[in-house]
Amino acid sequence: MSSSSTSPKIVECLNFIEGKWETPDEKLGVILSPFNGKTIANTYRSSFKTIDKAVQTSKTAQKEWGQLSYRDRALVMNQFKSWLLDNMPILSQTISNECGKLPEEARDGVLKGVEIIEFAIGLQNNDPLIKMMVSKGIQCEYRREPLGVVAGITPSNFPAMVPMWMIPIAIMVGNAFIWKPSEKTAMTSLLIANALKECGLPDGILNVVQGDKVTVDALCDHEDIKAIGFVGSSPVAKYVYTRSTANGKRALTLGGAKNHIFLMPDAQKELAVDGILSSFSGCAGQRCMAASVLLSVGETDSLIQEIANKAAKFQASKDIGAIITKQSLDRLKNAIEKSSSEGAKILVDGRKVTVPDELSGGNWLNPTILDHVDPQSYSAKEELFGPILSIIRCKNLEQAMKIENANPYGNAASVFTSRGDIAEYVSANAKAGMIGINIGIPVPREPFSFGGINLSKFGHGDITGDGGIEFWSNRKKVTTKWFQITNQNWMS
Ligand code: NAD
Repeated sequence: MSSSSTSPKIVECLNFIEGKWETPDEKLGVILSPFNGKTIANTYRSSFKTIDKAVQTSKTAQKEWGQLSYRDRALVMNQFKSWLLDNMPILSQTISNECGKLPEEARDGVLKGVEIIEFAIGLQNNDPLIKMMVSKGIQCEYRREPLGVVAGITPSNFPAMVPMWMIPIAIMVGNAFIWKPSEKTAMTSLLIANALKECGLPDGILNVVQGDKVTVDALCDHEDIKAIGFVGSSPVAKYVYTRSTANGKRALTLGGAKNHIFLMPDAQKELAVDGILSSFSGCAGQRCMAASVLLSVGETDSLIQEIANKAAKFQASKDIGAIITKQSLDRLKNAIEKSSSEGAKILVDGRKVTVPDELSGGNWLNPTILDHVDPQSYSAKEELFGPILSIIRCKNLEQAMKIENANPYGNAASVFTSRGDIAEYVSANAKAGMIGINIGIPVPREPFSFGGINLSKFGHGDITGDGGIEFWSNRKKVTTKWFQITNQNWMS
């Protein structure tokens, strides 16, 4: 991996409004490299006045953009897809620099974004006007219409992928989009805004406004923003949902997660070991699809030992990226300490880390495995958001299911088994929006949509796939009855 930690340039995370870079209203803070602790960017906050300016330019630009055909909008999206693929090294390095992922992990996130762009481009073929006769002489028709100006608020852990869950579909159906990236990882937004302009997106169709809560509140309150998409932690997801809907907006806000994996004794060894290891340690556990609880059912000791052996060999900065901030690292270390004091056995202790000297100022934690975790304890219940796996030993599948069902989140759940009946039992009974069978990170491929349930999502529908199309548009229903053709002079 290359942290590119030596880059001396400090990036200014500016606003992008009507195709021009602008300094936002006030300085917010800095982004420190997760790899070495050095300052890599300055961040800023946008006020309501700036949001209003962005909205007004979006409103004007959207009038024309909303009238274009899918095909014309798809021309821009096609260019954008090529841009992403052509510029993958710089993009994945920038993502890596600001959020601590390994560059190859960053690339995988961008490729998921490309998948959504392909889906959005396909709308020109897959979303035709549906016309049908509903009774003799009466025809009904759906017309998809944009909402106007919409906004997206995105989290720190996927600075390119999560925005691309929203932006391609929202603008393909004819909206103008105002994007507020995370203030912890705002650098990637500069590349994406520039790229879309270069690819021919008209000025004002994508505006980027930097900021924190103050800026989020302004977006939730502005009366001309018709819909808000949000992805982040559950308390903020709930807050943004409540505030936006109270202001008459459509909102879909995705929250945090506590994902469980059911491990059965009959699991196929390679699938289970590699699937579980990469699920909890990939992206250093900082993804909403990461498994953080392993529900071991019956005799699975040899599988767990194999996972532990492999996890213990990880080298920080080579096999696992960094934790996004020092505060997050401290929180994770405290969680390990707390779990141990609550009776868990530390099977693999990731706090013992060795990195090259130039990375010693970074936020490092190797994969950590806690065994015999009490289902009522802190690490079993809270979203830790780091490379920590809590193993709960269960007598049977029913007990494991009760534990999974009791957790208030509902993003994902997986099972590793060779038996179809067990796979079906977990699919049918786990309380999660996305289920994996012998897959540790069950992200659906488009057009299957992405979204959880319970505390992992507020609002109806999903953020990608057909859910995304429905969320960012209105269906207008037109019912037509024509008069009977009578003898007109143009008829022979
Ligand atoms: P976060 O909730 O701190 O921030 C998300 C966004 O909300 C950012 O743009 C931030 O500026 C803004 N924000 C933060 N505090 C706010 C407040 N008090 N009021 C208004 N806005 C506020 O989340 P994060 O730390 O950036 O990201 C990690 C979290 O996101 C984890 O909980 C993770 O599970 C979740 N996540 C969920 C999904 C999903 O699909 N469900 C995907 C990625 C990340």
